[in-house]
Amino acid sequence: MITEEELLDGLNSAQREAVLHKGSPLLVIAGAGSGKTRVLTSRIAHLVLEGEARASSVLAITFTNKAADEMRSRLIDMLGDEVRYMWMSTFHSACVRILRTNAERFGYSKSFTIYDTQDSRRLIEQIEKELNVDPKKIRPQALMREIGAAKSEMVDFESYRDRASGPFERTVSEVYSQYQQRLKQFSAMDFDDLLMVTVNLFEACPDVLDMYRDRFQHILVDEYQDTNQVQNRLVLMLGEVHRNVCVVGDADQSIYMFRGADVRNILEFEKAFPDVRVIALEQNYRSTRNILDTANAVISNNRSRIPKNLWTSSDTGPPIFRYRANDENDEARFVSREVKRLADQEALFYSDMAVFYRTNAQSRALEEALVMEGIPYKVIGSTRFYDRREVKDLIAYLMVVANPADDLSARRIINSPKRGVGEATLAKMVEYAKANRINLVDSFLHATEAGAPKKASEALAELAFIISDLAKMNDDGAGPAQLLSTALERTGYRESIKALEAHEAQSRMENIAELVSMAGRFGELQDMLETVALVSDADDLYGIEGKVSLMTIHIAKGLEFEVVFMVGMDDGVFPHMRSIDDPVQLEEERRLCYVGITRSKRWLYLTHAWERMLWGAYTSSIPSRFISEIPDELVRDL
Ligand code: ATP
Ligand code: MG
Repeated sequence: MITEEELLDGLNSAQREAVLHKGSPLLVIAGAGSGKTRVLTSRIAHLVLEGEARASSVLAITFTNKAADEMRSRLIDMLGDEVRYMWMSTFHSACVRILRTNAERFGYSKSFTIYDTQDSRRLIEQIEKELNVDPKKIRPQALMREIGAAKSEMVDFESYRDRASGPFERTVSEVYSQYQQRLKQFSAMDFDDLLMVTVNLFEACPDVLDMYRDRFQHILVDEYQDTNQVQNRLVLMLGEVHRNVCVVGDADQSIYMFRGADVRNILEFEKAFPDVRVIALEQNYRSTRNILDTANAVISNNRSRIPKNLWTSSDTGPPIFRYRANDENDEARFVSREVKRLADQEALFYSDMAVFYRTNAQSRALEEALVMEGIPYKVIGSTRFYDRREVKDLIAYLMVVANPADDLSARRIINSPKRGVGEATLAKMVEYAKANRINLVDSFLHATEAGAPKKASEALAELAFIISDLAKMNDDGAGPAQLLSTALERTGYRESIKALEAHEAQSRMENIAELVSMAGRFGELQDMLETVALVSDADDLYGIEGKVSLMTIHIAKGLEFEVVFMVGMDDGVFPHMRSIDDPVQLEEERRLCYVGITRSKRWLYLTHAWERMLWGAYTSSIPSRFISEIPDELVRDL
């Protein structure tokens, strides 16, 4: 264990104050790289060191699982193994833990399923079809966005229906209501439900709320500027009595408005706790002066902000490098040349370098150029491992085993691998299950009765046996890896993959092997399914050692690198086309730019292309307005 002195030694006076403050809620509001996350971690360590709190009575919330893992391992270094009892996770994971224990009080089964974005989307598509809504006119994504926005403001489908006006909202209302009823029927929750249902649970069962209020004597939240209303509500509910609540954030880094994040939560926090102590941190420890001056200059163009004074005692550092490329390929070649040069001349590791872009599609040209130079790289979070078809298929088997009410997953496995069950048979099975009020998976044994053709009936009966055997194995304590291997063999899934064209078969078999080995790390099926569902793009940062990281700026939040390349600094790309004409959106883009710039410790490159392939056509463009907001003397053209 470290001593109190060691803990406080490396901190400046404002940071120390924040770590030591007692007796009222605390809000640390400060610019990028000023040590907010460090203060939060140190504060937890101090609470435990001083005996003010036990590890198990601390609830610490981070923005990603990866960030939680990092904080946890730092605290284990400082405090030892007791830290394992601390709840340190994202809001979503914390809510899942609460719900697993209490869901039955609220009409859900304990083994409720978590649907990820792809699952939700499939369900929405299915409902659109049933309601004869044309997905070309109202895209599933638009419905998901609208429903998600409603949920993040705690608007349930009944309230939504009451206030819906106009044809779009009425359609949303119908879909929302179907969607929600279906989720309940399947004993499933989507991401937004995890939060909303927890709040509902606390409201409906005061004894449950009291239990958690009592348990979590200290609540600490990082990246508070990106909480949505439900998350804010959770914090206020849990902290209301003991008021040992500490939140840290930076209003200039709020970049998730599209997911319902609301900077006003910071103001709300001050309102909810009038005796809140507010501490500002003003010294940036991450970046050179040039980088900080650049960031400050850009963000000062936002009108709706409270100016702050962020300074650094570090050296001026290299200038900000600008490159104007002919097109995106030229831009990518420039990046890869520069990466190579920095590695050679500045003795930097590839893992010290990151390339940021506004949207995932921009990675293609970069990847080609990096491959040409033989530079190892990793694209973070573009295609989630768990979104691959074979992985999804196999997980669907496990989901059905864990929760037989999960009709969405039952639909997914009914004909994968192909077993001669077509659309018509599926419709018959769905109809039969509905008429007899049973789960879809339980109808498989009655396929003949349901009117399915002979071959399909036999195949479905076989599938029903396999699933019931898997369920038995699960009850007897077989772990998820064994369940997966059994499913792979007995369903013929492995054979069906082998039958594919060689190259295709190989890559899918590799994914399956990876899934099985990952499953081997879990003893309980439920734990595995939870982890899989809650992995986010930003958790994809494992395994970047020795590689250049490529990612969207959104994912880069909270991270730092020696070298940052921000590519695609063209008006229309960044700021994004859809934001240019909307002052509110434009300010969010500028905050995103601020987040990107402030990830860099020393080298910052901004590149722009005069022409680039956009949405399938060559488009000429002008440099991003954000570049022109940087004082000329800080910039050097290459
Ligand atoms: P962001 O706004 O990007 O989330 P942050 O405010 O959370 O940043 P940290 O990530 O905690 O800042 O700290 C930024 C960097 O500065 C880290 O490398 C951290 O170790 C370092 N740092 C923070 N405080 C100090 C200090 N007092 N002395 C030396 N280094 C520090
Ligand atoms: Mg931070």
